Amino acid sequence: MKKRIVLALKRMLSLKKSKYIFDENNLEVIFTNEVRKKLNKYRQVKDVHFEEGGQLMGELYPAINKIIVTEVVMCKYIIQDKYGVVLDGKCLNKKMKKVWRKSKGNTTYLGDWHTHPQAIAKPSGQDKETFEDNYWDVSIEQNVVLYLILGNEKKDWLKSYNGKHFKSAILVDK
Ligand SMILES: [Zn+2]
Repeated sequence: MKKRIVLALKRMLSLKKSKYIFDENNLEVIFTNEVRKKLNKYRQVKDVHFEEGGQLMGELYPAINKIIVTEVVMCKYIIQDKYGVVLDGKCLNKKMKKVWRKSKGNTTYLGDWHTHPQAIAKPSGQDKETFEDNYWDVSIEQNVVLYLILGNEKKDWLKSYNGKHFKSAILVDK
């Protein structure tokens, strides 16, 4: 029994061999002005606004422990209402591949974002589960994935996830 647990653990660890290692305790995340502007447009500031979401892409700088978010990738939604959104993974992947190719691999997948109709954005239990599962599903070269939830008063939730823990990232103003 013991042996089997060790083996399973080894498999889990070898699944995510990261080329780019970030220190998630002091990770700095920069959003370009363009990205900020685009994301701000989708905040659920009015009662009639539905939840929005998509993916984040950008550049990795492990030597200085910084990640720069340069792209917001969005597609039509499969389901969308005030309290939830189901993203079209196939469409998003296609769009991300295009960005990745155009940048010669410099602009890569960083993580996911979505909005909440809350003043102070906080993940639901379902969100956390989705975030954890997503980490193991995506193929990434870095050890962390970013998750952003936008509240309607700019009190956002931004964390990195390394397969074990969520850590608050330091938002850097450009
Ligand atoms: Zn949510």
